[in-house]
Amino acid sequence: MSLKQLDGHTILIGLMAYPIRHSMSPTMHNHAFEKLGLNFAYLAFEITNDKLPKAIEAIKTLDMRGSNVSMPNNQKVIPYLDKLDPATEMIGAVNTIVNDDGVLTGYTTDGTGMIKSLDDEGIDIRGKKMTLAGAGGAGTAIAIQCALDGVKEISIFNRDDEFFQQAKRNVELINEKTDCKATLHRLEDKEDFKNEINSAYIYADATSVGMKPLEDQSLVNDPSWLRKDLVVFDTVYAPRTTKLMEVAQKAGVKQVFDGLGMMLEQGAAAFKLWTGEDMPVDYIHNILF
Ligand code: NAD
Repeated sequence: MSLKQLDGHTILIGLMAYPIRHSMSPTMHNHAFEKLGLNFAYLAFEITNDKLPKAIEAIKTLDMRGSNVSMPNNQKVIPYLDKLDPATEMIGAVNTIVNDDGVLTGYTTDGTGMIKSLDDEGIDIRGKKMTLAGAGGAGTAIAIQCALDGVKEISIFNRDDEFFQQAKRNVELINEKTDCKATLHRLEDKEDFKNEINSAYIYADATSVGMKPLEDQSLVNDPSWLRKDLVVFDTVYAPRTTKLMEVAQKAGVKQVFDGLGMMLEQGAAAFKLWTGEDMPVDYIHNILF
């Protein structure tokens, strides 16, 4: 926002996380406010778990419109909120808080952001099968939101680490509460992984593989695993071309996407919740990249 625009009526939105100084969200939202002439300001606050209760109380005290939350607060914040939207309740993590006259509601916009970014590219995953690697924050939001939004079948893979139990929980919840059929798989079973990718419409990677310090790695290394008409989606957006995307390009896959669209659209979804306005996504994209 420009100085011209800040005045006694400016409405504050926060970002509560730690570490957070590297975040692109303040630049994204403040440029969007300025472009649309909205009298809002977005500021990042270094908030660890111990500061969280007072920080959330401050949203009400200062009459802020809301806040984003990120690591390490996405799950810890839930007891301090008044309500969760139904998808967020299933996901069990929050990235956006909206303050409606003192009532704080938690949302997660990563899953809707991922689906919107694909819609924007003319890719409709509803009624289709997805094979998904990962069950951390991003993987859980994607799995639950896709199941709620009409994806027909999801094969969820995770390696044998602390996130495997989350993968199990996601599968159980999807089968219990949605019309989507979810199945649980181990990433270590390469033959199973290859077959599930081969029978899917979209393969989505929501693991940390491909991102620093694992930027030289991909869970799929053999181009013959990837059909040309498969949709390949990597949640990572730095580097812009991940190892998985290189393998997909080598395989001749026509529709290969990184996580940049998801990142912009999760921000746009939060922006819409706070302001009621559509973020000028193309304009913001040009500013950030
Ligand atoms: P997280 O720590 O919550 O989950 C990490 C996941 O990666 C787990 O499923 C874990 O089992 C898996 N994993 C980690 N190392 C692995 C390895 N060596 N082999 C196989 N699996 C491995 O992290 P997160 O917040 O869910 O982030 C996951 C990815 O999603 C990151 O690459 C992040 O950049 C990306 N992300 C993108 C967006 C976006 O808007 N595009 C938003 C959030 C996260």
